[in-house]
Amino acid sequence: MWSGFLTLLALVLGGLLWRARRRVAALATEHTRLQQTMETDRHRHTEALAREQAQQAALFDSMVEGVLVLDPKLKVRLVNPPLERLLGVAREVRGCAIMEAFRLHDLEELVNRTVRDGQIGNFELEVLGKERRSLEVNSALILDRQGDSLGMILVFHDLTRLKQLENTRREFVANVSHELRTPLSLIKGFAETLLTGAKDDPAVATRFLQKIEKHSDRLSFLIEDLLTISRLESGQLQLHPQSVGLHAAVQRVVEDLHGKAAEKKVLLVNQVPDDVRVHADAERLQQVLFNLLDNAIKYGHTGERVLVSAQPDAENRVKCSVRDFGPGLPPDAIDRVFERFYRVDRARSREQGGTGLGLAIVKHIVQSHGGRAWVTSELGKGSEFHFTLPPA
Ligand code: ADP
Repeated sequence: MWSGFLTLLALVLGGLLWRARRRVAALATEHTRLQQTMETDRHRHTEALAREQAQQAALFDSMVEGVLVLDPKLKVRLVNPPLERLLGVAREVRGCAIMEAFRLHDLEELVNRTVRDGQIGNFELEVLGKERRSLEVNSALILDRQGDSLGMILVFHDLTRLKQLENTRREFVANVSHELRTPLSLIKGFAETLLTGAKDDPAVATRFLQKIEKHSDRLSFLIEDLLTISRLESGQLQLHPQSVGLHAAVQRVVEDLHGKAAEKKVLLVNQVPDDVRVHADAERLQQVLFNLLDNAIKYGHTGERVLVSAQPDAENRVKCSVRDFGPGLPPDAIDRVFERFYRVDRARSREQGGTGLGLAIVKHIVQSHGGRAWVTSELGKGSEFHFTLPPA
């Protein structure tokens, strides 16, 4: 009986043990499965995060604007390549404080203000690096759903070119107003003097009327040149390039300027070979040659020669040169004579009826043919103006 009980107990315990083992095995399998699922999830999550970060980095890198992201302690978390260029950052600045990274007090001040106010728009920042830059910065705190700060984002727009254009425009308007006002006030002055009695003296009246005529001519030349510049710049002036014989084109201008050259005893010499042909708009080419030869006569010395020559340059374009033996140009003027309204001697230019736009027009016309215009000169020895055009 006792042994029967023991056998039964052993059987019961054996059964329980077996079930427990199965349960443990099942739990172990379930655990492994769960672990694998978690591992796969973690892997997927890491991959998705890496993909998202790569996309974000690509997005920031491809932006034209500079982007700076700061962490909650206001240390640099990200600087995209455009911002590195704008601020001239050449080293790793991740983890650095603003001043340490960029040495810009104004930027640090902007960050502090953003912390106070949450968001700042259109803050202007001047950066004095290799070249002076004007930047517009927009900044904002990055907040989570509870309103806690995750850091800050700052977006930088480069306004340098825009500001330069704005300055050029302002300068141009000021110059034009000045250039228009001068002959106008002279004309008005002569007219008033005539009306208050000078008209009764025929000799004085003639002299004053001649002056009025001269300054009216200057006004109309100026307006003509302004219109040409404006049409060239806005692309309204249609060019009709064709094969043009350069020798004949120079000859026509030499004849047009014959009277003016003779007055100053200047000899215009056309040395351009007969067979040189360029691909150009005939009328505009004429204007380029006229402006250069006219200047050579105007600013050259009395009794000197002006030589016009042509030869192929290294890129097989036609290089045409107008050489005079006049006063030449000071070194600082060499890079500037093609600017609108730049004159070496303002009074002399005005006296000669100059508008200050002749060389700017030359440069524009030549460039719109795909060529280049420049000057070489030695003070006291004369100047040589060159331009290139495509061959026909
Ligand atoms: P402007 O109407 O004053 O002649 P340009 O644009 O034709 O205007 O020329 C700009 C300036 O360049 C002139 O005012 C003059 O000072 C200088 N310049 C132009 N051509 C010559 C030259 N051949 N020799 C010396 N100076 C020149």
